[in-house]
Amino acid sequence: MFNRLPFQPKVKKVKWQSEFRISDRLVESYQRGNIFLAGDAAHIHSPVGGRGMNLGIEDAATLAWLIATRTAGRYTAMRHPIARSVLRMTGVQTSLLTSKSAALRSIVSRIVPLLTGLPVIGSKVLEQFSGLNVPFPPWLEKD
Ligand SMILES: Cc1cc2nc3c(=O)[nH]c(=O)nc-3n(C[C@H](O)[C@H](O)[C@H](O)COP(=O)(O)OP(=O)(O)OC[C@H]3O[C@@H](n4cnc5c(N)ncnc54)[C@H](O)[C@@H]3O)c2cc1C
Repeated sequence: MFNRLPFQPKVKKVKWQSEFRISDRLVESYQRGNIFLAGDAAHIHSPVGGRGMNLGIEDAATLAWLIATRTAGRYTAMRHPIARSVLRMTGVQTSLLTSKSAALRSIVSRIVPLLTGLPVIGSKVLEQFSGLNVPFPPWLEKD
């Protein structure tokens, strides 16, 4: 990882270390009977984009609203497509960022800032990272 830094630090002593692996999984159904899954128990993906925790909080808020409105049966249909699209996007981004091909990484690090500097693309990327590319939460909608 240090080879991505602009300088090469010298590590003198390692006090603690652990292995970091990226999981990429999504349950088929968020519900079985009266058991509902939310958060990382339902979907887990690369931290690229920083969507995981927010996705889980949205799951829980959606489920609370569905239970309150006696429509909990809609939970999987509402949340599964959103998690699937986040997994798809984080998967692509992670593959590009962690590619073993120095040429590809170099292209990504030069081209992506140029593309995201374009207002049309930049605003789409911002929407995706901030989670604004998903349907507006129904419990926040006005009557
Ligand atoms: C490096 C990294 C960076 C991240 N950055 C971001 C970010 O910038 N933005 C963002 O939105 N998300 C980010 N995430 C994702 C976010 O951390 C997770 O999506 C979120 O913490 C998941 O919350 P959770 O409550 O669903 O699961 P967890 O945080 O895993 O909580 C589950 C809890 O259940 C406990 N538990 C497990 N089994 C049992 C059991 N049998 N009995 C009792 N308790 C049990 C565990 O100990 C744990 O405390 C990042 C993740 C990583 C790894």
